[in-house]
Formats: sequence, structure tokens, C-alpha cells
Amino acid sequence: MNRPICPRCEINSQDKEEIERIIAQRIELLGENRADDELYKSRLSVCSRCDKLIEGTCVLCGCYVKLRAAKINQHCPLSRDVW
Ligand code: SF4
Repeated sequence: MNRPICPRCEINSQDKEEIERIIAQRIELLGENRADDELYKSRLSVCSRCDKLIEGTCVLCGCYVKLRAAKINQHCPLSRDVW
């Protein structure tokens, strides 16, 4: 299954390595809007056990969770704990 192309993030690659590189770059640019490591890891842990996570993307919000989880003011569409 191919990952969806994200119109909001303007990530137009289908290449997994390229997507990971872009996400890492975007996270570096968040500055003070970046969640701390503990929150980031906790969010990804919740997502990793969620049946709405497909190929790194939350099918409810359409976001790459690695990028969404790195932003401080985000929420889970299902209001799951930590998010
Ligand atoms: S953001 Fe919420 S609904 Fe989406 S994958 Fe993570 S835990 Fe699941």
C-alpha cells in the first residue's frame, strides 16, 4: 500500500526514505512549537498500538504521526491519552 501524499505538509514523495528525511527536517524547524522528547515518544507509543495507524499515517486526520506528534499543540482525533 502506498502512503498518501499529504496536501497540508506538501510532502509529494512516495519514497519512504525521502519522507523520513523531510519529516526530520520539518521537526528541526519547529523550534519552540516542538513537543519535548517525553511527550513525543509517548504520543508515538499510543499511535503504535492504534488500529488507525497505517504506514505511518493516521487515517483519521491524514497526518504522518511522526510529524504531528512533534508539534506541541496537537490532538488525537480519538482523544487518546497523552495526545
Ligand atoms: S493520532 Fe490518535 S487516532 Fe491517529 S493513529 Fe494516533 S492514536 Fe490513533
